[in-house]
Amino acid sequence: MIVAGCDIGSTTAKAVILDDTTLLGYTIIPVEGSPKDAAMALRYALKEKTGFLIDEAQAVCGTGYGQKNIPYATLYESEIVCHAKGIHSIDSDVRTIIDIGGQDAKVCRIDAFGNVERFVYNDKCASGTGRFLEITADVIEVPIERLGSIHEHGTKDISLSNQCVVFAETEIISLLNSGEEIGNIVKGLHKALASRVVSLAISIGIVPKIAFTGGVAQNFGMVKALNEVLKTNIVIHTYCQIMGALGAALIARERVENRVA
Ligand code: ADP
Repeated sequence: MIVAGCDIGSTTAKAVILDDTTLLGYTIIPVEGSPKDAAMALRYALKEKTGFLIDEAQAVCGTGYGQKNIPYATLYESEIVCHAKGIHSIDSDVRTIIDIGGQDAKVCRIDAFGNVERFVYNDKCASGTGRFLEITADVIEVPIERLGSIHEHGTKDISLSNQCVVFAETEIISLLNSGEEIGNIVKGLHKALASRVVSLAISIGIVPKIAFTGGVAQNFGMVKALNEVLKTNIVIHTYCQIMGALGAALIARERVENRVA
């Protein structure tokens, strides 16, 4: 059996290919153009990276903000359900998922079976999302991948007074002009983002074990900031950025298994 999960996000598109038991391969590409363009590009990228043709899959589950634009999807599921499914398949002790993507942040509580109990999300304000960090990286002129190691150089806690991305950008520039260390600025920005996401999480109640998913989970400065604000250690999995696509692929697999049964 070959099945696939495709997650068309606002910033990246992800695909995962599974057989009956194993993850056979995956790919992640930036979203350029429309969600439909991203879905088509994903198909080629998957073939190139893994050798698998999406058309070989017996079921393809689409998820993410652009899910309805995946012409080859045979079923669809919400991102919240897919992230829950994905993380539960890896670590069944997880009860709270914090997912920070490019343009939204979601927090979801799951039960011992991986069912979604409660969720909350912010897709209105960029200051609570990965976009905030992308803008930060642009202003200080470093690649987004370096924010984690720059955070390590922070030696003191500075708090940023502006909530709004536009004003935060101006504040970063004035801090740089006043000679503030980049490490301290990045540490302060991570703390500000972590505090906003934790406020969101508190609204539905935080139950350990907590997993951090989405592209921003690769930023270990953000992991540290969240650990500090939450006063506990959150878990991050290698597949953090493809968790939604993995969950979608597992749902596609269940669909095929039920069909056969
Ligand atoms: P979406 O699903 O909403 O399209 P992702 O979950 O792929 O978004 O997350 C994209 C965000 O992840 C970017 O805005 C960026 O902040 C962050 N990101 C992606 N890759 C890295 C990386 N290697 N290091 C740090 N941050 C990253």
